[in-house]
Amino acid sequence: MPDVFTAPGRFYRGNLHTHSSRSDGVLSPEEVCRRYQAEGYDFLALTDHFIGIYDYPIVDTRPFRAPGFTTLLGAELHSGPMANGDLWHILAVGLPEDFAPGNAPHFRPVPGQETGPEIAARAAAAGAFVAVAHPQWSGLTLEDARSLTAAHAVEVYNHGCHTGADRADGFGIADLLLTEGRRPSLIATDDAHFTEPDHFGGWVMVKATENEPEALLAALKAGMFYSSQGPEIRGIDITKATVEVQCSAAVTVIVQGQATAAVAVHGQSMTRASIRRDRFAASPWLRVTVIDAAGKRAWSNAYWV
Ligand SMILES: [Zn+2]
Ligand SMILES: [Zn+2]
Repeated sequence: MPDVFTAPGRFYRGNLHTHSSRSDGVLSPEEVCRRYQAEGYDFLALTDHFIGIYDYPIVDTRPFRAPGFTTLLGAELHSGPMANGDLWHILAVGLPEDFAPGNAPHFRPVPGQETGPEIAARAAAAGAFVAVAHPQWSGLTLEDARSLTAAHAVEVYNHGCHTGADRADGFGIADLLLTEGRRPSLIATDDAHFTEPDHFGGWVMVKATENEPEALLAALKAGMFYSSQGPEIRGIDITKATVEVQCSAAVTVIVQGQATAAVAVHGQSMTRASIRRDRFAASPWLRVTVIDAAGKRAWSNAYWV
């Protein structure tokens, strides 16, 4: 895989998880797109709840594209129970408009409907970038996460779940999957409904040669992005002995690996950090967190070393 920081193109900022009045959000699709564009986003995926009470929306956001701002079509898919009995939540970005509804009349599982893994596989086969949504908020088990074999990514930060439930995390599950040898990419999203301050808090920075839906979708599937709440990651160079990180001004840079392996460097207005790899000798993967003075974070995808 090419290095995301040195690959050609530029970074485009986007939110992959958003609701509108076509499901349980409060703003029209047009106003949601307008606000994200006004806030400086390069792209947005509207992902309304794909269930019967909302008439299985895959909202056509193409009319709201503008110079410098594009949209990906998508939905949050729901079908079948997780281990805890609640309905699956699965993010699908890049769905075709005619993606066939299953049998998911409302937010409760019904007998005979597709399982979560089945609808995720159908979405991936239809071309979508598929992610396990808000694992902590859902009460997802590791067994649930393992079963979603079609998922490209895990939602490691969900801003709406942070604001409304203090259950934003997906790294617990993601790190366990990485340790089992699975290779999910790691996305931060808003899951904005505009019912509370649940917007503009977590996004992906996607490296692509053009701000076009097809290029963005291909880059997402290839893991060519990092996630952020504010800080920029500008380079990660893994040498034999160290991990070299370049970033916007930070107070903490952390490298994490499997099990208990994590090493932090603290400082003031750091734009570079060098972290020795000794602690990570037993870990086949590494990832990086950058934290700024306001406590905002940026997260790399995992590197296989
Ligand atoms: Zn959800
Ligand atoms: Zn959602």
